[in-house]
Amino acid sequence: MAVTEITHWINGAEDAGSGSRRQEVYNPATGQVTGSLHLADSNDLEKAVQAARKAADAWSEVSMSKRMQVMFKFRELVHAHTQDLAALITAEHGKVLSDAAGEVGRGLEVVEFACALPQTLKGEYSDQFSTGIDVYSFRQPLGVVAGITPFNFPVMVPLWMSPIAIATGNAFILKPSERDPSASLLLAKLYKEAGLPDGVFQVLHGDKETVDGLLTHEQIDGISFVGSTPVAQHIHQTATAHGKRVQALGGAKNHAVVMPDADLDLAADHLSAAAFGSAGERCMAISVAVAVGEAADDLVQKLGQRARDIKVGEGTQPDVEMGPLITPASRERVQRIVTEAEQDGAAVVVDGRDLVVEGKEEGFFVGPTVLDKVKEEMSAYQEEIFGPVLAVVRVDSLEDAIKVINSNPYGNGTAIFTGSGNAARTFKRQVTVGMVGVNVPIPVPAAQHSFGGWKDSLFGDHHIYGPDGVRFYTRGKVITERWPHQNDVVTASMNFPSH
Ligand code: NAD
Repeated sequence: MAVTEITHWINGAEDAGSGSRRQEVYNPATGQVTGSLHLADSNDLEKAVQAARKAADAWSEVSMSKRMQVMFKFRELVHAHTQDLAALITAEHGKVLSDAAGEVGRGLEVVEFACALPQTLKGEYSDQFSTGIDVYSFRQPLGVVAGITPFNFPVMVPLWMSPIAIATGNAFILKPSERDPSASLLLAKLYKEAGLPDGVFQVLHGDKETVDGLLTHEQIDGISFVGSTPVAQHIHQTATAHGKRVQALGGAKNHAVVMPDADLDLAADHLSAAAFGSAGERCMAISVAVAVGEAADDLVQKLGQRARDIKVGEGTQPDVEMGPLITPASRERVQRIVTEAEQDGAAVVVDGRDLVVEGKEEGFFVGPTVLDKVKEEMSAYQEEIFGPVLAVVRVDSLEDAIKVINSNPYGNGTAIFTGSGNAARTFKRQVTVGMVGVNVPIPVPAAQHSFGGWKDSLFGDHHIYGPDGVRFYTRGKVITERWPHQNDVVTASMNFPSH
């Protein structure tokens, strides 16, 4: 099979770069190498940063209405190319096509939010705050910003960042995941076709070497990161030490509480979709079901039934519901953790460890797995598995369920399934998690709100996209202004000026 050369996108064109290092890109459903990715060296990085610097200076002077015309056109193009983007995602990530198209749709919501930025960016005005003096504020772009993104959403996460960064007048350098890099190049072509000037959106491929170059480069003003917690911590520490504004979103262990008064069929349907959709490789996947009291036995039985019914295979097949994992190492991690849980006393209700997909024996597949009677000290509870494993933890009360969640170091998303408004209210007020669902398993906020977890799921002060995204990519400025009339007497005083 032909292997595609995957190059950078620098200053409005494909660019092979001068770096000699390459990384193989796989189709995880077949195990075949499909791409040879060019990794940037320091010259490539410098070229991209200089192009971004120049582009940022010019782009920040372009009128708001012209910038919005580009965003509207980009919105139409991404919408029209949804299936092309989905096909690239499925070929390198493995998720099923409908899920990949859904990812593009969620990214588009942020593009649409960016199309309405004139409303968000209006600023504030205090007329005649002191006699003859007006005070007002507005926001200006940071300059050159970089986004470093994970493999699990190769289109949506770059669209969480770049539309807002660009619409607010910055130049944006994307360092996508090296595991599924191709969709980012189609995004670059669509930005160009929409009329975005060269250098405002660029794609630089690479690994830790390239990332560290971005984190320490003196001409980069801000870093957005989404990925695992240890890398998020490294990004936050290094980039803030180099004077940059940083938002670094990390990993997750998302719990869903199921109360005895919940509709258990609804809960089981939604939990299995949230645990096994995209093979569990979502930062908002539910990986722990906390079953309260008598909900447990029925819930486990229903979850087991649903997990056994899921059709696993290549994501391009129309009847397939779950694709492969991203790498053989991810599959081995899932197999190890399930084996450890079994040895430590958990019940393996459904076992996906040895699943083989006929005709795709080289693919990186594991099947949906349900573990019952999982305890907090087990690796299946402590590690972010990032695979299709749902661990059931049994507790006696809502209070105990909240204690379990609040003791967990992560705080990305959580949900409660209940028929009681009072239980839901207690839960949403007391839980130490950034995004909470009530009878909604994956509470990813709509684009007009912002996305972000608490605790080890986010380092930095700003959540991503929505109003926080606008604040992140801009700096506020406050003007105090006086235009005295020719005949006005304006006296100066040695005392500190007061109103
Ligand atoms: P990752 O942390 O391995 O990689 C993310 C990015 O960082 C990639 O672009 C990669 O090239 C780069 N990188 C990797 N190691 C690095 C290092 N040592 N130094 C500098 N850069 C490095 O994450 P991943 O495996 O691609 O994605 C899965 C992880 O992302 C999971 O932990 C998941 O929970 C998390 N995630 C979180 C969110 C969120 O919103 N909080 C969203 C999506 C994914």
